Amino acid sequence: MNSPVIVAHYHELWLKGRNRKFFLRKLAQALRQALDGIPVERIEQPGDRFLVRLRPEALVSAAVERIERVFGIVYFAVAQTIERDLDALCAAAWAEIEPLKFSTFAVRAKRSDKSFPHNAMKIEATVGRFLLDKLHAAGRNASVNLSEPDITCRVEITPGPALVYARKIPGAGGLPTNTGGRMLCLLSGGYDSAVAAYLMMKRGAHLSFAHFYGTGARPGESSIHVARELARRLTLYQLGVKLWRIPFEPIQREIVRYAPESYRILLYRRMMMRIAAVLARRDHALALVTGDSLGQVASQTLQNMVAVGDATLMPVFRPLAGTDKLEILAIARKIGTYDISSEPFHDCCPIFMPRTPELYATPKSVAHAEANLDLAALVQQGVESATLERFRYVNGIAEEVTSVTRDNPDSVTEQQAASA
Ligand code: ATP
Ligand code: MG
Repeated sequence: MNSPVIVAHYHELWLKGRNRKFFLRKLAQALRQALDGIPVERIEQPGDRFLVRLRPEALVSAAVERIERVFGIVYFAVAQTIERDLDALCAAAWAEIEPLKFSTFAVRAKRSDKSFPHNAMKIEATVGRFLLDKLHAAGRNASVNLSEPDITCRVEITPGPALVYARKIPGAGGLPTNTGGRMLCLLSGGYDSAVAAYLMMKRGAHLSFAHFYGTGARPGESSIHVARELARRLTLYQLGVKLWRIPFEPIQREIVRYAPESYRILLYRRMMMRIAAVLARRDHALALVTGDSLGQVASQTLQNMVAVGDATLMPVFRPLAGTDKLEILAIARKIGTYDISSEPFHDCCPIFMPRTPELYATPKSVAHAEANLDLAALVQQGVESATLERFRYVNGIAEEVTSVTRDNPDSVTEQQAASA
């Protein structure tokens, strides 16, 4: 029995220039890590694609599900592995394309093992002719188009069995994980911030997370469990995640007590920004990420977003600024955060929600509104009360890291942090 092979293609665009080696090394690393626990014979990199040679006992569907999440892969395919013989190639090619709907097709062959007696042109011509005859015999009105075919049947002669595939599976796209620098995302538990995080991860950024929580009236009411599940889910893409959790109610009480009501939400956000910026620096992150979308709620008018961002010198990225809620929800469904964010939870902000929030704050007016607060002390309080949870990717799932090691003094669990 032949071992299954998955052929994974990356985009050429980011390969230009000096970074090529760096990106490919990171992509190979991510691919290997994503497949952790799945029996892989080896991963090869002949030219412009990866060949993942699975062991015979590997579950192909599991490998497909994992590779679908690897950033940097544009598309991939499960190849048929067959004996190196022209008749066998023709039969396999027919099996590949028969179930597909198309009106034009092409056959593309690559012969990287020159011991095979027929060259690529001969393979393409023979298999193409065979397929055309088969299609016509089946009463299908298809033709060959070499420049812009609807589907392409690929034949690869590598050492070992030949590979044939035509069914492309779309990959996650983007840039390989952990190639774009570090950022810290303010993760609320709602739909938006998890999607914002995903989009930055997709561009290669490495994110850590900060979640501000209120203490729900009853256990299980807090938003922490939702933020944790989101962090777990996002670990499947980034292959490792840090989540800072910051109790926010004491800080909110100060704001409620000493600041004008209509400014509350904006001041909550400004405090979140300041505390997040300190934690970000601790993680060597250069920027913050939020799930703001222009005009979505009162705190997200352009003026208010500017006034909130003004609380920190750290650049703030808002990848969803120009997207509609429906677009955001579609991505949330695709990446598996939708159901998690749909769970009921106790958002920290509405408890002390103002009746009529300020819509058009300015950096000056928010600064005035928080004039009676001891900002430095509140930031310190927030930072000092932050606890850290880490997730690592093991065998296709996010596993909580619980051990405290010398190299890794930050990795404490909630219980350990509480008793420290
Ligand atoms: P989301 O769907 O992500 O909750 P939202 O539409 O509810 O966003 P807001 O609640 O106004 O919008 O929050 C705007 C952004 O502020 C969020 O996307 C997130 O980045 C950040 N944020 C809000 N609440 C919290 C929180 N409790 N902890 C961390 N970040 C938060
Ligand atoms: Mg929210």
